[in-house]
Amino acid sequence: MQRSSYAILSYKIKHDYDIGEFLSSYKYLLQKAVDMIWDNIEWIEKKRRNHYVIKQGRRKIRKYCYVERLIPIIPKSREFKRDLRNSLLRDWKYASHYVDSAIKTAYSILNSWRRNYLKGRRGRKKPVVRRKFVRVKETLYKFEDWKIRITIEAWRRYLEFDISRAWFKNRVKDCELGELILKEDELIITFRKPLEERKTTEYIGWDLNKYTLDGFSPRYGWIRVDLRHLYHIHRVHEVKRKKAQSKSSRKTSLKSVISKHGKRERNRSKDFVHKLTTELAREYPNAIHGFEDLDKQGMYNRRKKHNREVAKQNWKQIVQLMSYKGRVKLVNPRNTSSTCPMCGGRMLKLRKGQMVKCSRCGLTLDRQLCGSINVYLKMYGFTPSPSTFYRVVIKPMISLWKVQMRRGSGVTTKGGKGNDMLPMNPRGRPSLMNPKGLIDQKLLMSMKVY
Ligand SMILES: [Zn+2]
Repeated sequence: MQRSSYAILSYKIKHDYDIGEFLSSYKYLLQKAVDMIWDNIEWIEKKRRNHYVIKQGRRKIRKYCYVERLIPIIPKSREFKRDLRNSLLRDWKYASHYVDSAIKTAYSILNSWRRNYLKGRRGRKKPVVRRKFVRVKETLYKFEDWKIRITIEAWRRYLEFDISRAWFKNRVKDCELGELILKEDELIITFRKPLEERKTTEYIGWDLNKYTLDGFSPRYGWIRVDLRHLYHIHRVHEVKRKKAQSKSSRKTSLKSVISKHGKRERNRSKDFVHKLTTELAREYPNAIHGFEDLDKQGMYNRRKKHNREVAKQNWKQIVQLMSYKGRVKLVNPRNTSSTCPMCGGRMLKLRKGQMVKCSRCGLTLDRQLCGSINVYLKMYGFTPSPSTFYRVVIKPMISLWKVQMRRGSGVTTKGGKGNDMLPMNPRGRPSLMNPKGLIDQKLLMSMKVY
């Protein structure tokens, strides 16, 4: 999910042009393009190795089997595309550039179907175009003096949109106009905004927990974001849902109440996530943010499942919105909170508090900090080793800690114990934690040998 060198801004404006017929025939054209490409797909049989897991007592055993699969090859040759274009043009009465737009859209529909098909998420069924929309390419409109003129039929029919008094005019002053999407009652206008090159980059590894989002970077140390508000939103609605559910078995009309609450819950949590990600992007503008790849989550870390249930639904959203507002790198989530970042050993939970201890080398640190350090190390592709750990984690932390002591800024003194949130920490704002006390002091001193 790397960001391109453009930011895309998009705005909607309403219109009352009568373009129903045009949109219908475009939809028909697009479906025809999809049909024709579909009919020319070549299916190749391939053997694939699959596995399934069976349990034998406590052990899990992988069994392998071979399956025949049909792999689709989408025709892409120049001759095919030319023939496709010619036959689509035959009974198309509007501007011919729409045919090119339809071909491009048809390919992107089929390519996305193919990606999902290969992952096993979609069947061998032809995609059907349902929504009425037209992607208007740059060759089909003119943009002058804040007026957009879209060609429907060359020399004959145009649509005009005046955006000189639109509310977003100031925001898009030095942007280029991008693709337009025409719908029955609105026009979606996209603008491209070139981004200036960033000079420095730093990595921050993030670990999501039930009540907190914990980040680690050598520059800032341990960053903690309070997520209790988000948890609270879900909790409140869970209670309401349960109440409504117990009543709705008697009264069916209450079912709408449940769905209303679901919508409100989603809106409220989305709003929170928006604010949170904006804040992070603003606070760490040069950072590449590392997150666990949730698509791979199901494969590992079953143990963590319970803690994540509530937060999980927001996790994807946080990563998604963060990738719009900043740069994001995904890492394999395997054992991020149970591996020792120093020696690669297994971290065991200590009875009291949030601390974990390595069963091999004895490194003791906060469980959540451990997770984010591991994400950080994975972003670089480092495997746990004492020298890396010293160079990447301990050394910068010591200097950071000295700076904080000199400044006398007591961020928090209770580091590592239970819920050590700052009392004045506003909702969802990142705050820096004092690294002192998070890592076992004796070990810190002995680390200097490396
Ligand atoms: Zn260890």
